[in-house]
Amino acid sequence: MKIYKFGGASVKDADGVKNFLKILKEVGYDETLIILSAMGKMTNAFEKITSSYYNKNKDLSLNIETAITFHKDIIEDLFVNLKTEILAEIEGIFDELLFFTDNNSVTDYNYIYDQIVSKAELISTKICSFYLSENGIPNKWLDVRKCIKTNSDYRRAGVDWEKTSRLIKEHVNGSSLIITQGFIASDHNNNTTTLGREGSDYTAGIFAYCLDAEKTIIFKDVAGVLNADPRNFDDTILLNQISYREAIEMAFYGASVIHPKTLQPLQRKEIPLFVKSFKNPKNEGTIVCKGANLIPKTPCFIVKKDQILLSISAKDFSFIMEDDISEIFDFFHQYKLKVNLIQNSAISFSVCLEDNFNAFNKLYEKLKLNYLCLYNKNVSLFTIRHFTKASIMKIEKNKEVLVKQLSRETVQIVVKN
Ligand code: ASP
Ligand code: MG
Repeated sequence: MKIYKFGGASVKDADGVKNFLKILKEVGYDETLIILSAMGKMTNAFEKITSSYYNKNKDLSLNIETAITFHKDIIEDLFVNLKTEILAEIEGIFDELLFFTDNNSVTDYNYIYDQIVSKAELISTKICSFYLSENGIPNKWLDVRKCIKTNSDYRRAGVDWEKTSRLIKEHVNGSSLIITQGFIASDHNNNTTTLGREGSDYTAGIFAYCLDAEKTIIFKDVAGVLNADPRNFDDTILLNQISYREAIEMAFYGASVIHPKTLQPLQRKEIPLFVKSFKNPKNEGTIVCKGANLIPKTPCFIVKKDQILLSISAKDFSFIMEDDISEIFDFFHQYKLKVNLIQNSAISFSVCLEDNFNAFNKLYEKLKLNYLCLYNKNVSLFTIRHFTKASIMKIEKNKEVLVKQLSRETVQIVVKN
């Protein structure tokens, strides 16, 4: 069995769906399971629907209308023979959405989010599945919620591997082409859950693991795994091969090309992962597999923007001891601040933080009671794996370096913007 995953950018419009068909014809699709994300920026659009519903905002119907029109326009462009059927399917999904917004009485935002946002994947997979049928490619549309079972930790649900593994084997037999959704799943009460933003790579990892797949291919809008994000760096280099370990390290430091949870299941069964461009699917792209760390061996750059550098010392300038550190970390955990770098000296303790939940000010008020705190907001954290002198100079040039930390393979540099 082969697992292919197509992200939202690959099916962002009618031309994208046509290209999806073209790719399948080029690379082959026997004994294949295909995982699709929501089309283009539709997850964001459904997030908007969620918040307007949750906040009882009057934009709700307008936001739903926008999503309906977006998909209907694509359908208009793609279909002749099956147009009535696919329109009826999509209307059915939007009817379910309206039934939910009219009748739901649960107030938990995360639960509501998953029930609403998941519709975008259901729609994209219906459209692509029907489009393949329209073009003579028989396939089976699979509701992934019958296969992937999770706990009820909405918006970041944890997989029940035992049940999932059994259900996947039950629902997937190697013979036909299967189209299913990334990112979404269901809990033991059959409520829809999601695996976290950008989670459809992870879905690919789950299926590959449970089916002992021969390989997984992720089709992206970049040529493969690059040594830096082309949005931030000019001359990027394509990595031809990287080890699972290297890919996990890169994801840990914030490289966004592969969702971090995807790699462990693949590594455990040594299933090779190919990352390819959906614009040039014949090109090799990157293979993530067992073996050499990095080919070619070159410095890899990862940047995290919008960080906060916080330095904490005791009010009497005594040493910062284990009990202080333990208390401080408790606060980070409580306020959901992500710690991306730690540096300790005798009297002060510095951390680079990511404030995803807008809680830094509260944390600061709390810490100020017992400690002396200084901070810089809006700093950037650069990580270079396999650094060289020249690569460090490239980052430090014309910038004010606030913290720098070196280990054998990795250097991390916090700079002022
Ligand atoms: N559609 C979801 C998102 O945009 C999942 C994914 O694309 O992986 O986050
Ligand atoms: Mg997406």
